[in-house]
Amino acid sequence: MLYGALEAGGTKMVCATGDENGHIIKQTHVPTTMPDETMAKIIDYFKDEKIEALGVACFGPVDLKKDSPTYGYITSTPKPGWSDFDIVGCLKDALGVPVGFDTDVNGSLLGEVTWGCAKGLSDAVYITIGTGIGGGVLSGGNLLHGMMHAELGHMLLTPEPEDTYPGGCPFHTACFEGLASGPAIERRYGKKAYELADDPAVWELESKYIAKALVNIILTLSPQRIILGGGVMHQKQLFPLIRSKVTEYLNGYIRAAELEDMDTYIVPASLGDDQGIMGALKLAALAV
Ligand code: ADP
Ligand code: ZN
Repeated sequence: MLYGALEAGGTKMVCATGDENGHIIKQTHVPTTMPDETMAKIIDYFKDEKIEALGVACFGPVDLKKDSPTYGYITSTPKPGWSDFDIVGCLKDALGVPVGFDTDVNGSLLGEVTWGCAKGLSDAVYITIGTGIGGGVLSGGNLLHGMMHAELGHMLLTPEPEDTYPGGCPFHTACFEGLASGPAIERRYGKKAYELADDPAVWELESKYIAKALVNIILTLSPQRIILGGGVMHQKQLFPLIRSKVTEYLNGYIRAAELEDMDTYIVPASLGDDQGIMGALKLAALAV
């Protein structure tokens, strides 16, 4: 069966076709500009493909409540033009196929659960640390939606005493995203994050924020594995720092077999940056 997949991001829209095994046949991307222009290009890409369904893993916040009048909308984004935009309705009307819909990070987690490093698990968390920070949650075998969906990137964190940067989230100042996203690193030090690769103090501080957020996640969601993706996590030296700090901050309170091997508990994304688009393929398959 041929499926369409759309990974809708704030800077680019990745469009692909593929099959039920997560095999990507064709892939392209278009820049995210205003909705009219962007959606026309996406529709143009898919309209002559004989897809059975489309899966959309979308930047948010989004409305995932099936019985809501605004189901399938991007809701309160500050991204110009996209606030209250009916992305699912627009695609359904134009393409005439079922559309599966979830957050970008739930999509990435679904990719990892179906084909990657979280295969077979019932409870897992995927976090992306990039331009923003977001988290997808699988709980009891289901992607967690609840009243809307998790927004792990905005959990409140206390700034570290040595940190001179107050945090940059327009809503919370010092939340996980405000303190630890790529742009937060860049504003704190006045340099691109990748240019700071050789400065150990940068990654020491970054790993403290990430480890505190992971501890909060472990204590609230009890995942069997945590997957870390996104541009900032290309700094591989973060992994050992995060693992040892998570152990330190938990301080022996949680006794679980999973935590005995931190190298398999906190892991990098495993699908070579295709976890999102592969997850969107799975969303399409689930929509049929
Ligand atoms: P997005 O979040 O926009 O989808 P990314 O996950 O690539 O895209 O995240 C982009 C952010 O990650 C930028 O702030 C960038 O500076 C940072 N970043 C990208 N590559 C690296 C790297 N190799 N090392 C550190 N930070 C990086
Ligand atoms: Zn915030």
